[in-house]
Amino acid sequence: MTIAVKNINKRFGDFVALNNVSLDFPAGELTALLGPSGCGKTTLLRCIAGLEHPDSGQVLLDGADASDRHVRERQVGFVFQHYALFKHMTVFENVAFGLRVKPRAERPSEDQIRRKVKDLLELVQLDWLADRYPPQLSGGQRQRIALARALAVEPRVLLLDEPFGALDAKVRKELRRWLRRLHDDLHVSSIFVTHDQEEALEVADQVVLMNKGTVEQIGTPDQVYNHPASPFVYGFLGNVNVFHGRVHEGVLASEGAQLDVPDHTHVRDAKGTAYVRPHEMDVDRYSAGAEGIVVKLRRAHAIGPLAQLDLERADNAQLIEATISNERFQNLGLKEGETLVVRPKRLRVFVDEGASI
Ligand code: ATP
Repeated sequence: MTIAVKNINKRFGDFVALNNVSLDFPAGELTALLGPSGCGKTTLLRCIAGLEHPDSGQVLLDGADASDRHVRERQVGFVFQHYALFKHMTVFENVAFGLRVKPRAERPSEDQIRRKVKDLLELVQLDWLADRYPPQLSGGQRQRIALARALAVEPRVLLLDEPFGALDAKVRKELRRWLRRLHDDLHVSSIFVTHDQEEALEVADQVVLMNKGTVEQIGTPDQVYNHPASPFVYGFLGNVNVFHGRVHEGVLASEGAQLDVPDHTHVRDAKGTAYVRPHEMDVDRYSAGAEGIVVKLRRAHAIGPLAQLDLERADNAQLIEATISNERFQNLGLKEGETLVVRPKRLRVFVDEGASI
């Protein structure tokens, strides 16, 4: 099922939670709604579900206006961060619940329910827990059961609100990979809310970056990570080095450093800011006359395939992060306290009005 929202506005008193949001969620894809706390992710999810009513705008399901449809008529399944499974019911009965409360005419037979619940428990790989009660499960197992329960009624849309938010980092990582595989098998149109950028980039087909009730960018993980549309997106998706300066005919002068910005040859003179990710930095030993930014190596953290370097600019003491391969780090034989020179291999400049050229 395709999902779309058109010009959705939602206020809580004077507070604007959603400001004219329009989005398309393609059928069968897994979309992440990503953004800082309070940016409106959950409110948008609840509007799609029919749990919240927008002040204006439309929710379209398969192209048809569903704004007035009751939550039960929208064929959505939910999983929340703290999905309260019924504590007094076994895992089996929890998953069967949605089937048992169907109107009599649509209710499957007891045999069909048994088969269906068994299949779902196999799908989430927890069939061996069918007779347990929720308090006897781990947090990760509970969320998988919550997902099985949501899937029991064959929703055409699956909405997940920080489904793994309450779990520890390791279980979280396992479960997000597992969710991706499950999604690849089922292809239910799914939207999940997260404020964890790594989770969104790893799991989603499409990422929607939200900020203060608006959409900053929408794209594949590669598009939003490698081609951020705004300084906000740059800053939100991973570490980034920021260089302030003035742009003049293809060069950004940032204190003692001159950085080439070939896309900006037509800019005569404007304040600008360059964004460079740590892995986009070239690092070398310092030699007289070398081009780039002169830095001192403060600290090196070289474990596994990568070496993370904390550097301090010689001209203004700004801290810079660079990530190079551990192999290169060892070959260069770098020592803490040494003077180095760094050059951005790739950078993006936003002139300070916020417009990127
Ligand atoms: P988080 O990651 O913290 O859950 P979020 O991006 O999901 O944040 P929302 O839950 O959508 O954010 O909330 C957006 C804003 O709207 C917040 O400032 C929140 O306080 C406010 N808000 C949400 N629901 C209500 C409500 N029922 N009454 C008043 N304000 C609300």
